[in-house]
Order: sequence, then structure tokens, then C-alpha cells
Amino acid sequence: MDDRVPRVVIVGGGFGGLAAAKALRKAPARVLLIDRTNHHLFQPLLYQVATSVLATGQIASPIRGILRKQQNVTVILGEVTGVDVNHQSVFVSSADREGVPIPYDYLVLATGARHNYFGHDEYEKFAPGLKSLADAVAARNKILQAFEQAEAEEDPSRHRDLLTFVLVGAGATGVEMAGALAGLVRSTLRSEYRRIDPSATRIILVDMGSRVLGLFGDDLSRAAKKRLEKLGVEVRLGHGVDRIDAEGVTVAGERIASKTVIWTAGVAPSPAGKWLKGETDRAGRVRVQTDLTVAGHPEIFVVGDTASLDQDGKPLPGVAQVAMQQGRYVGRLIHRRVTGQSAPGPFRYFDKGNMAVVGKGFAVLQSGKVHVSGFFAWLAWAAVHLEFVGQSSLRVSVFLQWVWTYLTGQRGSRLIVNHHASANDDARTPSAAERQPVGTR
Ligand SMILES: Cc1cc2nc3c(=O)[nH]c(=O)nc-3n(C[C@H](O)[C@H](O)[C@H](O)COP(=O)(O)OP(=O)(O)OC[C@H]3O[C@@H](n4cnc5c(N)ncnc54)[C@H](O)[C@@H]3O)c2cc1C
Repeated sequence: MDDRVPRVVIVGGGFGGLAAAKALRKAPARVLLIDRTNHHLFQPLLYQVATSVLATGQIASPIRGILRKQQNVTVILGEVTGVDVNHQSVFVSSADREGVPIPYDYLVLATGARHNYFGHDEYEKFAPGLKSLADAVAARNKILQAFEQAEAEEDPSRHRDLLTFVLVGAGATGVEMAGALAGLVRSTLRSEYRRIDPSATRIILVDMGSRVLGLFGDDLSRAAKKRLEKLGVEVRLGHGVDRIDAEGVTVAGERIASKTVIWTAGVAPSPAGKWLKGETDRAGRVRVQTDLTVAGHPEIFVVGDTASLDQDGKPLPGVAQVAMQQGRYVGRLIHRRVTGQSAPGPFRYFDKGNMAVVGKGFAVLQSGKVHVSGFFAWLAWAAVHLEFVGQSSLRVSVFLQWVWTYLTGQRGSRLIVNHHASANDDARTPSAAERQPVGTR
């Protein structure tokens, strides 16, 4: 392609970046999409990988495959480490090269968010979060490993600690994870163990807020909490965790022994704000103008979880719909600019509503004044999630898996797979000195 054709660099192939790339499909531009993973991940279903319902390949697709028909896009696997706004270039590190400058005429930063341990980064070691496929596989390993360890353990007093699972954060991820975990232990695993009773497993959901699903209305929060309790989940509200270590958590002064703690609480933005050295909000997200550009840089756009924009006096939430709508808007805006057309009006988010699933056959749905909970909300949840799962082939396999799991209680992927990169301390292979035959303790 002609070198004079403008170069659009998009960092991040998540919901925002992918939407921007697709919206540029007819633009006379060279689009370079850079991501540090080779796949687009459907994060809303990560908890289903962590709880063995779905396999990793059912919630993620290669970005290269998704964009294969779009001739003006080149996909690069690499990690962006900085931006030089004066020379209009980003620095990219890949397997064999560090900090390679790549020039841009337009830059779209769509780098998402990371876990936020609210100043307690030391918790991460004991309470991993759920943000990437590797996180979900690590959580799945940890959960399944706990049952294996308990079955091999002859001292019943140790069963309780091994079979106590604590989830920190009762937002959508924590609630969905708790509901799915309850289904795993009370249904799928129930009849498979001989020494332990998986249905006696404790699942504890902790949040410092006064209700679960804080983004939803009071009525739906109450319905979700009631449902969780019916599934046997202990919901502890009004107190954050005071301490997390290898042996468990302390909540409101009470010690809860647990070998499996999962962090589903806060998110922090990617370091894009630091790269740009521009204005950020209190959470560190880049403040953008109503056309999603950064002040003083009409060529730099920030979208999705990394961006901060108020609408009607309230900050837009960090959800997939915001990222997709912003990505599409930016793609269209750049297209109009490079073809000399007038700029579109300011970005406006159209809120289609929020949903969260709470165990088998139950969800809550809030769209404007419509508040629904129960089976029909769950059907709507399933339809919407199938619609947005990356590719049509995945749609079919996810649908079939859900039907199978719904009817039989069996799950799709209950394998403990210790990839070298995600192997954690609990899952590592013990040394010969540490190895003890079962029953010698
Ligand atoms: C467990 C979980 C459940 C969720 N459930 C829901 C839900 O039910 N409904 C909902 O609407 N939203 C949900 N969300 C939020 C939603 O997933 C996010 O709002 C959305 O993904 C934001 O899109 P994004 O494009 O900003 O970032 P992402 O989708 O996170 O994409 C960011 C991309 O940037 C790449 N990247 C990051 N840094 C770099 C770098 N330095 N160099 C190169 N590439 C980089 C990443 O690899 C990633 O591909 C959930 C999130 C999580 C974690």
C-alpha cells in the first residue's frame, strides 16, 4: 500500500480495539493492530472456564482469524511499553525485540484494565484474579486441585480448609463465579469422590459494600443474594478483607481458613495514562474528550476500560458495550477524517442494560426501568452472550455445551493442566523429599 496512506495504530484487540479495527474496514488507511496475546477474549465468560463449564478455546478466538478478510489490517503480536507523543510512535516489545518504535498518524489505545488490589499487591500471590485465559486456567487448576488434595488427605480436619472457597468481591464476576462454583460442587462433583463430600464445600462471598451486584437496582441485588443463599453460598457484606495469606483470610476480625481465595473485586486501568502523561481520573483512567481524543492530541484516542468519560454527570461504566460502542465511534471518526468528511457529533453511550447470571437457570436483568430476575432473564442472558461470543463456530459449541451442562450437570473441561507459565506454588510438582505416599501423614 502507498506510504502516504495514513497509518492507524490500534493497541489492544479486546472489545474496543476490535470494534475500532472493524469500523475502519472501508477506510483508505493502513491499520496495525497490536496485542500482547494472539486472541480476542470474551471476558464475561471467564468464570465459566474457571469453573470448568467451558474450555479456553470456546471463549477466545485468534485476532488474526477474526480479521482475516479485512485486507487493510495487519495484526502484530507484541507488548506496547510506551508512547512518544511528540514523534508519534509507540514502542513495541516482542519475543526477540525490545522497544521497537512504530510510527502512527492516528493512535487508538484500547488496552483494558488489570486487577486492583487497592494498595495490597501482596494479596495477589494468595488471591489471584480473573482477567485473562491464563488466570481462568490457574483458578480452575486451583479449584480442582483442592478436591484432589482433600480426597487424598486422611485427616478429616484438613478437609474443611481445603474445601472452603473464598471469593473477594460481590460484583458481577464474584456473584457469577459463586453461583457456578455452587453448581460444580453440588451437582457435577457430588457423586465422584469417596472420602469427601463435595456438596459440604463452603463457598463464601465477601464484599465491603452493603449489597451484592452494586451496579444493579436494590430489588435485583436482593433477588441475587437470595438465590446465592439458596445455592448454599455464604454472603458476607459490609466488611472488606483485613488480611489474606497462604492459610486463608481475615474478615471483620474472623479468621476463615481457606486454601482457595479468588479476587474478583476491583479493576485498575492499564498504564496508558502513564504513557501519555495526560490527565487521568482518580482510578488512573485517561480522561478523554467527548470525541474520545486526549486533550491537545486530536490524533490520539482512548476507548473502553482505559478511558474515563462522564455522561449525564456520571462516569461511564467499564463494560463491554461501552468499549464496543466507543471503538466503533472512533473507527468511524477516523474514517471520516482521512476521507475529508466533517466530524461526527460527540460520542454518546446507549445503555442496553446489564445482566448477571446466578447459578443454573437464574439471572438478573436491568434495562432502563425494566428489572427482571429468574429463568426468563437467564434465557435472555444466554441469547445475548451467544450473540457476542467471537465467531459463529464458537456460538454453536458454546450453545451445545450449555444445553448438555443444563440437562446432565456435566461440565466440559475439568482438566488440571499446569502450563509451565501458569503453574502456581500449590500446583507445582513436589520434590522427592516433599513427596509422601498417601496416608503416611
Ligand atoms: C471476569 C470479567 C467478567 C466480565 N463480565 C462482563 C459482563 O458480563 N458484561 C460486560 O459488559 N462486561 C463485563 N466485563 C468487562 C468487560 O470485559 C470490559 O469492560 C471490556 O473487556 C473492556 O474492553 P476493552 O477493549 O477496554 O479491554 P479488553 O477487552 O480488556 O482488551 C484489552 C486488550 O488489550 C491488550 N493489551 C493490554 N495491554 C497491552 C499492551 N501493553 N500491549 C499490547 N496489548 C495490550 C490485552 O491483551 C487485551 O486483548 C467483565 C470483565 C471481566 C474481567
